[in-house]
Amino acid sequence: MAAIYLDSNATTQVHPEVVEAMMPFLTETWYNPSSGYAAGKEVKAAIQNAREQVAALIGARPTEIVFTGCGTESNNMAIKSLARLIGRKNSKVVTSEIEHSAVLRPLEAMQAVGFDVERVGVNEDGRLRIPDLETVVDSTKPGFCSIMWANNESGVVQPIAEACEIASAAKWSFHTDAIQAVGKVPINVADVPVDFLSISGHKFHAPKGVGALFIRENANFEPMIRGGGQESGMRSGTENVPFIVGLGKAAEIMRLRIDEDGHAEMTELRDFLENELVKRLDGVHLNGSREHRTGNVAHVSFDGCTASELLPKLDQAGVQCSAGSACMTGKAQPSHVQKAMGFSDERAFSSLRLSLSIFTTKAEIDSALERIEKVVMETRSN
Ligand code: PLP
Repeated sequence: MAAIYLDSNATTQVHPEVVEAMMPFLTETWYNPSSGYAAGKEVKAAIQNAREQVAALIGARPTEIVFTGCGTESNNMAIKSLARLIGRKNSKVVTSEIEHSAVLRPLEAMQAVGFDVERVGVNEDGRLRIPDLETVVDSTKPGFCSIMWANNESGVVQPIAEACEIASAAKWSFHTDAIQAVGKVPINVADVPVDFLSISGHKFHAPKGVGALFIRENANFEPMIRGGGQESGMRSGTENVPFIVGLGKAAEIMRLRIDEDGHAEMTELRDFLENELVKRLDGVHLNGSREHRTGNVAHVSFDGCTASELLPKLDQAGVQCSAGSACMTGKAQPSHVQKAMGFSDERAFSSLRLSLSIFTTKAEIDSALERIEKVVMETRSN
């Protein structure tokens, strides 16, 4: 029995065309992009091409894209630079209660050394409370906001344009962790004036261990990693050329798909999965905004079951998915995201995140539905 992968918010399969694009840079064209001879220049040109591909996906200029080692690094780079620039005295930092640990932890570290960090909550639908953000952003102090574009557990897309407007009215900088949004929903930094935007390749069919940070032209930035001056001095270190090329190719594939149909097919499959679960089983709750979310996530609670009971049985039945977020799986606390949405512990503990990708098929969803139905019924009857 083939396993059905429904955990694409944890990571995605590397696209075969991405592998193909990467291979020559592992096998033949392995030169240092900083070398002055023709072969080195060829490698440099490949990095430049990838920069253009990533920029095109989010409406940026190629010069505004800096390649990094992962999404976590992109977040840390933006946050630590902003922290250094505003300083801890009489400044303020505003984030949300539903951020990924790659934003929560660096901000906690800032708080530990004296920064004033405030966290804004979300409504039951998982969206940021804009009036609360308005209240806490303080134009009398230097500051910045770090608010995610789409949540990794619920898939809920945040009101980033409105949040950005509030920050810019106070002359604050704005960073967004867009790691679960890039490649899934249209993003155009020409329309939404974020200063920094984090990207991670493995969430949209590039390999793990490569990311990017969008740094708006003229935004102040203090490099976290200094050295040989690669990436225009923003992130030194000899470039991970094959992975950067892979990230570029994946960005191109996603841009074409978003332009073509906005992932309509995948969204239809996700909707079908949710509707069928509700039809087939009692006590099923669909979580998060129906309107503002990525097209690939079903966040579902099952009355009378816990995710920790369901997950091993689903794994055995050949359904790979997770409880809330991958990082939380196995931890005995309800997810902070679901608590922020006001869910009872019972509902939070009983929820699964089923996340699709462009490779998920109707046949897989049909089969997953049968397996999930069986496992939930069995768990409830025990
Ligand atoms: N931010 C969000 C919202 C994520 O979902 C993830 C990955 O799970 C990260 C940051 C971390 O990205 P990476 O795994 O590339 O470090």
